Amino acid sequence: MNVVVPETERLRVALYGAVQGVGFRPFVYRLATELGLNGWVLNSNAGLVVEVDGAPDELQRFLERLQAEQPAAAVVLAREVSYLAPAGFTRFEIVASDQATERSAAVLPDLATCPQCLAELWDPANRRHQYPFTNCTHCGPRYSIILDIPYDRPNTTMRGFPLCPECLREYADPADRRFHAQPNACPVCGPKLSIEIGEAAGAIAAGRILALKGIGGFQLLADARNQEAVARLRRLKHREEKPFALMMPSLAMVREYCLLSPAEERVLTSAAAPIVLLRPADTRSALAPNVAHNSPYLGVMLPYSPLHHLLMRACPFPLVATSGNLTDEPIAIDNEEARRRLGGIADVFLTHDRPVARPCDDSVVRVARGRENVMRRARGYAPLPVRVERPLPAVLAVGGHLKNTVAIAVGRQVFLSQHVGDLDTPEARRAFENAIDDLCRLYRFKPELVACDLHPDYASTRWALSSGLPVVRVQHHHAHAAACAAENAIRGPYLAVSWDGTGYGLDSTIWGGEIFLAEDGQFERVGHLRPFRLPGGEAAIKEGWRSEASLLYQTFGPQAVDDPVLRRMIERGINAPLTSSVGRLFDAVASMAGIARQSRFEGQAAMLLERAIDGATIEEAYPLAERDGVADWAPLVEAVRSDVKRGQPRSAIAARFHNALAEWIAAAATRTGARQVALSGGVFQNAYLVERAVALLETRGVAVYTHQRVPANDGGIALGQAALSGIPSRDHRERFAG
Ligand SMILES: [Zn+2]
Ligand SMILES: [Zn+2]
Ligand SMILES: [Zn+2]
Repeated sequence: MNVVVPETERLRVALYGAVQGVGFRPFVYRLATELGLNGWVLNSNAGLVVEVDGAPDELQRFLERLQAEQPAAAVVLAREVSYLAPAGFTRFEIVASDQATERSAAVLPDLATCPQCLAELWDPANRRHQYPFTNCTHCGPRYSIILDIPYDRPNTTMRGFPLCPECLREYADPADRRFHAQPNACPVCGPKLSIEIGEAAGAIAAGRILALKGIGGFQLLADARNQEAVARLRRLKHREEKPFALMMPSLAMVREYCLLSPAEERVLTSAAAPIVLLRPADTRSALAPNVAHNSPYLGVMLPYSPLHHLLMRACPFPLVATSGNLTDEPIAIDNEEARRRLGGIADVFLTHDRPVARPCDDSVVRVARGRENVMRRARGYAPLPVRVERPLPAVLAVGGHLKNTVAIAVGRQVFLSQHVGDLDTPEARRAFENAIDDLCRLYRFKPELVACDLHPDYASTRWALSSGLPVVRVQHHHAHAAACAAENAIRGPYLAVSWDGTGYGLDSTIWGGEIFLAEDGQFERVGHLRPFRLPGGEAAIKEGWRSEASLLYQTFGPQAVDDPVLRRMIERGINAPLTSSVGRLFDAVASMAGIARQSRFEGQAAMLLERAIDGATIEEAYPLAERDGVADWAPLVEAVRSDVKRGQPRSAIAARFHNALAEWIAAAATRTGARQVALSGGVFQNAYLVERAVALLETRGVAVYTHQRVPANDGGIALGQAALSGIPSRDHRERFAG
């Protein structure tokens, strides 16, 4: 695929750790000037931020030297990189930090075990030999142990562990690697395990399920080669087919099972140590087939705490490593709670006495076009802020209903909570309230305004309306678009392609195939999918054959649907709301092509349809003609049915469908004359579709923006809600209705 790389981009790097008072700003100034790059550097309590404009290769060189040549006294603990629209800087300067940001210190995310601590872990002569809680100022738990600021030991869950004389000496010695390392601990004074590692490892090897108290809560672990163990874990956790993540002991083993690019390797081995979605290697895999079923990716992570390292050394094979919860519930963090909630799943518990301050799942990242794209933002990333272009009011954004996250805005920084999850259960709603309290307490934040979704039935909306504070209600797909615009610092008008499964539209129908012309918090709906009925309402989300029936009915007439009940529902619109959702169109086409009649987890049919392309290079696209901004699926449905009847390969059907969507985006850009396009919403986790759309748009000279640091799905919309709350016209509903 011929992707045109833009000539100039803006690189933004946010650095956290010991980066103040160590000559970092003059160093950045010298480096940028030497390389002839314009931009600025800013120092604040929340971290150090650098921006420079340049060509992609210049920016890469700058980034590499920024890391390699940093001042000796600086310790960069966390780093986030994003690529934005060029700003047209004319010089490089050291700028004064804005006051609002100055007040809020960044709370660091949890950091994977550093090489020095790891060396000590394996050194029989070291006093921390095989000690599962070793850490230092460069690594270890942070967000998962902090109870309050300032970040001092009495304000962490380590407060119950008085330092022994030797640890205290390290803690007080400025020359020591553990100087002021708040979670510092050793076998004498620190936390202890409930059972021996060997016992836990033996249980896994024997095909049993282990509940392990990790960094951000409990995980459930099993031998990923053991089909029976994996099946049992699925059954007990009520998780039918959604892929399980894996933990592998080493990079060498990751290479055995997966294809690994240098960029993917960097993310995998970073301090954030997330789950990285990787293409499986083309070998006969020893993995049980039910680990990831037909998923195009394997989610893989490396051990990130000493405890994980010790366990993986005792289990030198791939493990399924999934959150310690029942599907749709939050991750368990407390020992007693875990035994109660996970007692029916796990055979063995490996716990310890260091409390976890808040649940924090493993994050999920995919590398697309050589760049990091966070798909679930939690451990290793939360609660680092996303910097936005303009100062925001003191707003609390409560997010959506699925994959919920919440956010607070302090000046130009938006602090996002960790992934909270779907708000379907009372436990999840409690976790949602805790996340709000927690974020507000940590940053001493008093919201003056609450931003929420337009959907009246979302638990988050109800919470906002009962908060007693002024409320800004933001249309769901506008929030998606604004999140993408905010993190990419898009200026001026842009075409927002906002596609997902479900969101409450301004006309009270279910939107999800929207194209907006947006600027400065205003938007105009300039395109959308032709609405169709969803017989069964919510049930259609899991049962794609319902969407299929609806499209067949509306394309070929009532005789195309056999089931008389279904026919009546569509005919009369009984329990069959209208939707313009592209997510549901994916379901319908997957069902028509015989790829998936239903989804056992959200988005499964779409995932299988993408997978079905299977590397086929097909340029043809189904017709999806836009008339007056409305993309009519009827000709597409006819073409799909004809291809299915003619026995065309699934790969061709799937590719032609994806290509049709990409061409619709390109056509909308051409029609509106847009020079910038933002792709947001869960549909854009589809790598093929993004690649295809980017290729079409960039050959037309249109700049394309996708998500980087926040998820494209509903996990990102709290950022959009926060970003829009600063816009003077607050009632988006009245202003844009009709
Ligand atoms: Zn360390
Ligand atoms: Zn000690
Ligand atoms: Zn959405």
